[in-house]
Amino acid sequence: MITLLTGGTGGVKLLLGLAQVVPQREIAVIVNTAEDLWLPHGYFSPDVDTVLYALSGMLDESRWYGVAGDTFNTHRRLRELGFDEYLNIGDTDRATHILRGELMRRGLTLEQATRRIAEAMGVEAEVLPMSNQPVRTVIRTPQGRMNLQEWLVKHGAKPEVLGVSYEGSGEGCPRCAEAVESSEAVIIGPSNPVTSILPILSLDNIAQALRRARSRCVAVSPLVRGRPFSGPAHVLMRGAGIHPSSESIARLYREYCSAFVVDTQDAGFEVEGIRVLKAPTLMSTREQRRRLAEFLLEVCGVAH
Ligand code: GDP
Repeated sequence: MITLLTGGTGGVKLLLGLAQVVPQREIAVIVNTAEDLWLPHGYFSPDVDTVLYALSGMLDESRWYGVAGDTFNTHRRLRELGFDEYLNIGDTDRATHILRGELMRRGLTLEQATRRIAEAMGVEAEVLPMSNQPVRTVIRTPQGRMNLQEWLVKHGAKPEVLGVSYEGSGEGCPRCAEAVESSEAVIIGPSNPVTSILPILSLDNIAQALRRARSRCVAVSPLVRGRPFSGPAHVLMRGAGIHPSSESIARLYREYCSAFVVDTQDAGFEVEGIRVLKAPTLMSTREQRRRLAEFLLEVCGVAH
């Protein structure tokens, strides 16, 4: 088993690479849920959805969220009726939220509801929401506290970020910790540290399992030539008091992994206790994704 920790874009590109070299049933994915929201129509779990759509071949790979070729009739109609739905939710995507919300209202945990939906989509990898309890990323700005979608989508990532915190339970899904413990290799994907990886690491049981698995865990930097390939990771890192560089990400993760991969175009650096390796980390093509996945498995000593 190979376990990947991820958010919704960089980590998911790597997941698509892994799925080319390892059968899906041998992959466990621990997914950030700190961006989840109850919406009027159901339960929105954006990173879990991106993982499910990617593994079932439905993902809109031009945006790295939502369903390819989706229609937006309901979204448009809601706005015509005067409801300010600031998230641009597609009709097919909305069906996932409706079903998940309904399953959870009937008493299933997020983990159980995810398993049910994954099965219905034909996904064979084990998709594990990081926690069954709400954990929320809160962005502190001069205009007040916001959730990530409000800051990013409603306010266009404009308000100054004064601080970032994770609010909610300290307990991850027990199955996540078990997957880490029983995996031959654990990979921390090139996801935004502040909004995707640190929320997972804030969960005690998962963090402890990772510390024990450290020798077989490798992380990949989401920064290429010192900048995020996409998204506002550098703004959020600065706002969270973290210098936006691969070196500071390596320092943040060194408790949990023994190797850290930066892009070949980046300057090397040394961080005590961690092997810093170079590889091409841009994953714009299928081939680039597969090559990076193969490299990471080699680093962890896994035959494939
Ligand atoms: P989110 O939930 O959509 O924010 O997704 P993630 O946190 O998983 O991914 C966002 C991060 O992915 C950003 O910081 C990007 O810099 C990084 N990213 C996107 N594409 C690539 C890529 O091809 N290579 C690398 N190394 N990072 C990438």
